[in-house]
Amino acid sequence: MPPSRTRITAREHAALVRRALAVVWAGGRGWTIASFALLAVQGLLPLASLYVLKVVLDTIQRVLAMPAPRDAHAVVLAVGALAALAALTALCRAVASWVSEGQSLAVTDHVQRMLHDKSVRVDLAYYETSRYYDTLHRAQQEGAWRPTLIARGVVELLQGAISVGGVLALIVAFDVRIAGVLMVAALPGLVVKLGFANRLYRLRRTQTQTERKEQYLHVVMTSDQHAREVRLFELGGEMIRRYGEIRARLRSERLSLGMRLAISDFLTQILAVTAMFAALGYAIHLTLAGALTLGGLVMYYQAFLRGQGFLSETIQAVATLYEGNLYLANFYEFLALEERVTDGPVAVPPTWSQGFVLEHVSFRYPDSDHHVLDDVNLSVAPGQVLAIVGENGSGKTTLIKLLCRFYDPTSGVITLDGTPLPSYDIAGLRRGISVVFQDYVQFQLTARENIGFGNLGRDQGDANVAAAARLSGADRVIARLARRYDTTLGKWFEGGHELSVGQWQKVAVARALFRDAQLIVLDEPTASMDARAEAEFFEGFRKELGGRAAVLISHRFSTVRMADRIAVLENGGISEQGTHDELVARGGNYARLYALQARSYQ
Ligand code: ADP
Repeated sequence: MPPSRTRITAREHAALVRRALAVVWAGGRGWTIASFALLAVQGLLPLASLYVLKVVLDTIQRVLAMPAPRDAHAVVLAVGALAALAALTALCRAVASWVSEGQSLAVTDHVQRMLHDKSVRVDLAYYETSRYYDTLHRAQQEGAWRPTLIARGVVELLQGAISVGGVLALIVAFDVRIAGVLMVAALPGLVVKLGFANRLYRLRRTQTQTERKEQYLHVVMTSDQHAREVRLFELGGEMIRRYGEIRARLRSERLSLGMRLAISDFLTQILAVTAMFAALGYAIHLTLAGALTLGGLVMYYQAFLRGQGFLSETIQAVATLYEGNLYLANFYEFLALEERVTDGPVAVPPTWSQGFVLEHVSFRYPDSDHHVLDDVNLSVAPGQVLAIVGENGSGKTTLIKLLCRFYDPTSGVITLDGTPLPSYDIAGLRRGISVVFQDYVQFQLTARENIGFGNLGRDQGDANVAAAARLSGADRVIARLARRYDTTLGKWFEGGHELSVGQWQKVAVARALFRDAQLIVLDEPTASMDARAEAEFFEGFRKELGGRAAVLISHRFSTVRMADRIAVLENGGISEQGTHDELVARGGNYARLYALQARSYQ
């Protein structure tokens, strides 16, 4: 269903129910079978109780008509049967509530798993649009429990249909016109419920962005990342005010719809109750005329009452199903997000001979009309360190994203060992690349995991992990921690040890080095390191590099000058290329920037 559409056809409804049932079935077969078995029993019990109630009353009347001393044996027996039915009903209800909880938990976990599977797979591009977050928000908010609700809706609908059918058969036997009146009086209730389900759904869709903003403000007020600035700049009061404003708006929109629903609901109830009392009046009339026993009157009264109750439960179940389907469409909308960056058939060679070559590569981000890269020609050869220099926003990180195939170029081609990247298997390609991103991740996990995550396929023992840590300088940081490599980093969890930004960066670099990569990319890897740590790192790094390729993005010329080749990125293209000495001799932009930085150090 396209995101803009909010109406679903009957055929789509049927398909959604089928998919929901499939999800529920996959989530827990045992639970599903148990709940359907209970449903059959629970659906028939009320009818049995009604009949036994009539037997009790008729028996009492018969016994009353006998001369004294009366034998009340038959009455006791009938009441005993009624009590047994009541006990069975209670037992079924208790078991059903447990089964329903078990099913609900199992299905929620299953659906969450589907959501996570998709979330970790979708193109990176989706993470960079607000539409993605809207879709994810809606899918997450509703997806987890809607399928269970739909399954329960189906169960309740069937159970309700059985109960209604039974009671209705009883009423039809009494008088078909009364059955008709009661049914027709219930219809407006159904129409109102479905109409409001639709309106609520549309309201929630229009509220998505606002709800996300509300969540965002909540994060700003409660997360450690924001805590310092919120205090220093005294943003707390302002954030609370904005949050309150959004909540008030969301609330008033919901409440106004809720009030209209309550009024319409009330009116339809009045109609149904009127019909019920008309039927009761007719039954009393028949009893007074001697055409109906007292037991019969009570049974029919109960039948009208319960029939209406079951009917309204069934209508509620239909409405729940309907509403569930509307929301489930969101969930499938998320699962249906297409992956544009897809796998090719070629396996990536274990060692690279020519490396990457970019030919006339241009790129603009989706939803943007401006080219970040424009006709770039560049090679990244094994055994070489290539430095990329350029102003902020000149496209350096974007270039790296293209090498990792997070995106494909808008035009031009990138090859690895002569084969265009889209021909390769993506996972294999990425396994060959290691990147320390500028905004690398600080995993709130142990030091060992922080480094070991660089390559889950490798033995995570002390020897391997420490070798990578030694190279990045993280070993000295970790040596001071109470439990060494098994110390949890960060403050989120108990026993965690917080690191400084520079220390975190060393851990992130160690993670990148732990990978068995053919290309290592360092995007401002030493920005937070001190000068000594930086010099030591590069000395070790060069030695370890061997036949592998490295790309270095840095603003520090002390770092850049040790590269084998330097490319200057300007206005989306490569303006200069060469060694440090060549570029300085050339007297271009590089030479000017270098002189500027060198002067500030003197
Ligand atoms: P650098 O790494 O050289 O500082 P980037 O490659 O990060 O620069 O960004 C280059 C340009 O692309 C910037 O103008 C930035 O605004 C734009 N840009 C970066 N990421 C995105 C994105 N996800 N969507 C749209 N534009 C982006």
